[in-house]
Amino acid sequence: MKIKHFRSKCIGCRSCEAVCPKFFEIGQDGMAVLKGAREKDGCFELEVEDIDCVKEASQVCPVQIIVIGE
Ligand code: SF4
Repeated sequence: MKIKHFRSKCIGCRSCEAVCPKFFEIGQDGMAVLKGAREKDGCFELEVEDIDCVKEASQVCPVQIIVIGE
């Protein structure tokens, strides 16, 4: 499955890191980083076997920029 993180819209609330530190951490600029993701057209994408806690991160993100796709 693919995880998309529209990082440019992140407000740095840290919720994703709190519920899903396996995949998210806060970068030096104070905004979330999807670990191991590659940037594509301004969006960060990561292919994973198991979305694990990313679903929860997606639900708690107040600006809804963590998207789980096919
Ligand atoms: S939960 Fe959303 S807004 Fe908050 S730090 Fe994570 S990606 Fe950014």
